[in-house]
Amino acid sequence: MRYISTRGQAPALNFEDVLLAGLASDGGLYVPENLPRFTQEEIASWAGLPYHELAFRVMRPFVAGSIPDADFKKILEATYGAFSHSAVAPLRQLNGNEWVLELFHGPTLAFKDFALQLLGRLLDYVLEKRGERVVIVGATSGDTGSAAIEGCKHCENVDIFILHPHNRVSEVQRRQMTTLFGDNIHNIAIEGNFDDCQEMVKASFADQSFLKGTRLVAVNSINWARIMAQIVYYFHAALQLGGPARSVSFSVPTGNFGDIFAGYLARNMGLPINQLIVATNRNDILHRFMSGNQYVKETLHATLSPSMDIMVSSNFERLLFDLHGRNGAAIAGLMDNFKQGGGFSVEQERWTEARKLFDSLAVDDAQTCETIAEVFAQTGELLDPHTAIGVKAARECRRSLDIPMVILGTAHPVKFPEAVEKAGVGKALELPAHLSDLFERDERCTVLPNDLKAVQAFVSQHGNRGKPL
Ligand SMILES: *Cc1c(COP(=O)(O)O)cnc(C)c1O
Repeated sequence: MRYISTRGQAPALNFEDVLLAGLASDGGLYVPENLPRFTQEEIASWAGLPYHELAFRVMRPFVAGSIPDADFKKILEATYGAFSHSAVAPLRQLNGNEWVLELFHGPTLAFKDFALQLLGRLLDYVLEKRGERVVIVGATSGDTGSAAIEGCKHCENVDIFILHPHNRVSEVQRRQMTTLFGDNIHNIAIEGNFDDCQEMVKASFADQSFLKGTRLVAVNSINWARIMAQIVYYFHAALQLGGPARSVSFSVPTGNFGDIFAGYLARNMGLPINQLIVATNRNDILHRFMSGNQYVKETLHATLSPSMDIMVSSNFERLLFDLHGRNGAAIAGLMDNFKQGGGFSVEQERWTEARKLFDSLAVDDAQTCETIAEVFAQTGELLDPHTAIGVKAARECRRSLDIPMVILGTAHPVKFPEAVEKAGVGKALELPAHLSDLFERDERCTVLPNDLKAVQAFVSQHGNRGKPL
């Protein structure tokens, strides 16, 4: 499989190189040159397969030529063996034809484990083969950091540095990162906000001289391998609800458009999906595009669903590329314009095309809490605030009651106690067994000033299993 950039100028890469790349050299994002397409018979024959075997069938075409089947199978078995629920991604019924796909049974209790548990193992495999080492520098406002550290902690050839804004992540989220020890794990609390952290990561990709020749790898969802891993659970859910003979709809709590883009790809690979709902919080750039064809940056608001607090949605470029007939020059033009501070609209027929599949809703904090309370009263299920936004959007935007509606349950409620308290359901939150002593564990973290040079000096001092690069 070959991968091409959404801006049309960077060289095509194979899977291995895409895994190790950040942005493409032309500033674009990598996408498969040709998407595999499965027949209905093929998809139907996968019903009842264990999760890792389904994962093998769905993802095999994407790694073809880079990872032999037998090795890929082993990697997938280990990856999804790390989940605490035997079904890996169980479906739970809320109402008649309404389901939550629980994606929070991985080590860090959010759906990001599906991709990052795999990413760590893929990196280790590929780097071992090549005899190389890499450094990861990632920024997190919460869930990505712990999932990335959990995914990479056993990697022989990876040193991981995660930047989080000092005193601005929840205690559960901080402890999920800082209580993991290893000479290749480095937590850095930056005296600044999340944007400061993200800017430092971007600047480090742009000028990597401080790494003395060691390669920098991306762990955010610009990394293709993350999107790829998320395609699988759309097939997994649909197969349990009568797919592919029957079509299914999904409502997806969205920030960077990564998770929902995976659903769009599943549909293009042959899975009958009737409707994809973009569910955002008050940071609603995607909703403004879907409802009014305006893609314009606005100020950032802190919400009760912090993992979706974004101003710009990086993976949206991947959808735009398809909407523009895969014309890289057109995307480069739109993005340049956007960068200059302008927003954009797309031509009417392109927007209409998108709206055939996508609907959207923006849900504020008050509605989020109301939904948590409502669902708890109706079903006894306690939702996390992100999932609650998905439920609200599903109920508002649903096109057909006859088609099963699956809401992606992106996190365990215990990660977001503030929202659950505000919802007033009065149920005590309990950490799952493997994290029950989280609040007693020792922490390890370095506080650094909001200064790029200080951070880069720290990385080059510790980037080789705690020793200088
Ligand atoms: C990251 C995250 C999201 C948003 O996912 P995107 O792929 O950025 O759209 C939603 N919910 C939770 C709990 C998350 O951690």
